Amino acid sequence: MKFAVIGDPISHSLSPLMHNKNFESLDLKFTYEAVNVPIENFKHIREIIEEKHLDGFNITIPHKERIIPYLDEIDAQSSSVGAVNTVLIRDGKWIGYNTDGIGYVTGLKQVYNDLENAYILILGAGGASKGIANELIKFVNTKLTVANRTMKRFETWDLEVNQISLEQAESHLDEFDIIINTTPAGMDDNQDIPIDLKYLNPETLVSDIVYIPYKTPILIAAENKGNPIYNGLDMFVYQGAESFKIWTGLQADIKTMKKSVLNKLKGVK
Ligand code: NAP
Repeated sequence: MKFAVIGDPISHSLSPLMHNKNFESLDLKFTYEAVNVPIENFKHIREIIEEKHLDGFNITIPHKERIIPYLDEIDAQSSSVGAVNTVLIRDGKWIGYNTDGIGYVTGLKQVYNDLENAYILILGAGGASKGIANELIKFVNTKLTVANRTMKRFETWDLEVNQISLEQAESHLDEFDIIINTTPAGMDDNQDIPIDLKYLNPETLVSDIVYIPYKTPILIAAENKGNPIYNGLDMFVYQGAESFKIWTGLQADIKTMKKSVLNKLKGVK
């Protein structure tokens, strides 16, 4: 079987390494490659993919929303999120899924014991936030709170969540058991922290869905205060494992996938 990840830029994606290591470990003669498709070429996406005879593909920045009109079917959750990161090709039909939310929540359940009763604040209201909220809402008994820089972004939300500003989040920070940063503030060379952590409760788990850098500025600030922290590496690994399950019906070798990414991040060959 043949798979790929489509994005732009895509050359630094760790998905090919992670998936190919998983295939190797499971003794599968499958392949997974990175395909760069700039926005201006996206209108040819069906031809580009069909030429490669793929069985499925992942789709990443900046195309997670752009892919939707090219699908034959979309599952209900991806449709509600408005973004797709996994496409299954079956008998020439393209079916869209979103595994980002389940990827994050699968990992979170393993590091946080009482998720059902946790008061959760999500920072950011974009695609990743919506995917995570859609998944969390299935497990959590409390009402989720989502804080965003601009309130306009909530116009595309149909989930029952508390919608607040970043300033309101800052002043009510001590009310939350888990805080999840889904904004790209703190990614790459950006040293921003989306909110002030002055009122952070010492027990609150502070999480960021970014994993490069491994500790973003908000995680460093929370760790310096003595709080537990949790980054986005597991989310990346589990979203990939879920895509693999959709394409093949098989369980991925999670340990091998995670180790391959960790080694790459540490510069180990
Ligand atoms: P998106 O749809 O563009 O949403 C970005 C959100 O962040 C928006 O709510 C935006 O607010 C907010 N934001 C952006 N810059 C900000 C800043 N400087 N301060 C405060 N808020 C800011 O992006 P996305 O697809 O959700 O992705 C978000 C992040 O998640 C990216 O860094 C991406 O790499 C990461 N991600 C990680 C994984 C993983 O596997 N670990 C998977 C998916 C995504 P406005 O509405 O006000 O613009």
